Amino acid sequence: MLHNFLWRGPDRITRNTIKGRKEKGGLGMPDINTIYKATSINWIRRYCDKSIDHPWKLFFDKTLKPVGGKELLLKCNFKVNLLNQQITGFLNSMLTVWSELTKEIPPVINNRRYRKPIIWNNKDILISGKSVYFPEFEAVGFVYVEQLFRDGHKMNWNVVHGRGVPQSSTLKWFGLMSAIPKNEMGLEGDAQQTDTLLTFGKEAVRLEECTTRNLTQKIIENQFINPRSEIYHIHQFNIYIDCWEPFYRIPLIATIDTKLREFQYKILHNIITTNVNLFKMKPPRVESAQCTFCESEEETMLHLFYKCQHVEMFWENLFMLWGRKMNLR
Ligand SMILES: [Zn+2]
Repeated sequence: MLHNFLWRGPDRITRNTIKGRKEKGGLGMPDINTIYKATSINWIRRYCDKSIDHPWKLFFDKTLKPVGGKELLLKCNFKVNLLNQQITGFLNSMLTVWSELTKEIPPVINNRRYRKPIIWNNKDILISGKSVYFPEFEAVGFVYVEQLFRDGHKMNWNVVHGRGVPQSSTLKWFGLMSAIPKNEMGLEGDAQQTDTLLTFGKEAVRLEECTTRNLTQKIIENQFINPRSEIYHIHQFNIYIDCWEPFYRIPLIATIDTKLREFQYKILHNIITTNVNLFKMKPPRVESAQCTFCESEEETMLHLFYKCQHVEMFWENLFMLWGRKMNLR
């Protein structure tokens, strides 16, 4: 709806750019989906915050007990509908957002492996179509997939039993071992995941730092796509520009007139409609791509605003006036 209002037609700048900060070429457009995600994670943060005490947490604790409780679950590579426990309503939507935002976690960040695959609630380790959590195995220290192997071989049941897992769990053990997919077997991590983390690109954020505002910003920054026009301008003027911020600031500091700001913004994003664009349309909206004023060259943006003989005069006068004001001539 917001985008319809903005363009009155199809989008002309990609949405992941429009959502971005103004200094980077975006418009800071509010994005309902991102706000929803950030709010959900913020609720998880409040749920895990021990300094906030409230009865609603007890309901969640009770629901999550069969999957090992929140501390374990949030570190697992889970999928809500594969969990061996029915989770509904608000908790379901919160956890769904969480698993969506963590599913892309690259295993290595800054040379540290943050995510050793955890056996429990793992969406890739399924028995009868559900992920599993066996507390009696966790109690004796089985958490990570790598712990199920020794020298590349599956661990012997007698060893596991010797550690204190009751004999009655034999079948669970064999079920578990046959459920481990081949590509998970060799994965070893060098760092234990002690914090509950969300990652954005190469940056990891601890759950405690996940406020709604902080997260909205991170999600948007992570999805942000640099305006395509930057490449166009670099080619057009044959210059390399490292930092675009000053350019995007121009419309914000030069004027408060919205029409002028809009106009400048369109120039920066190369979405001004010229005869060249109109001619390319199917069917063409103009008879030729030539300049409306001089009719001697193609009407590109550069021609229309700078090279055309009709505007040359304007620039000359402006530079003269400017030079006089600044005492340059
Ligand atoms: Zn012209």
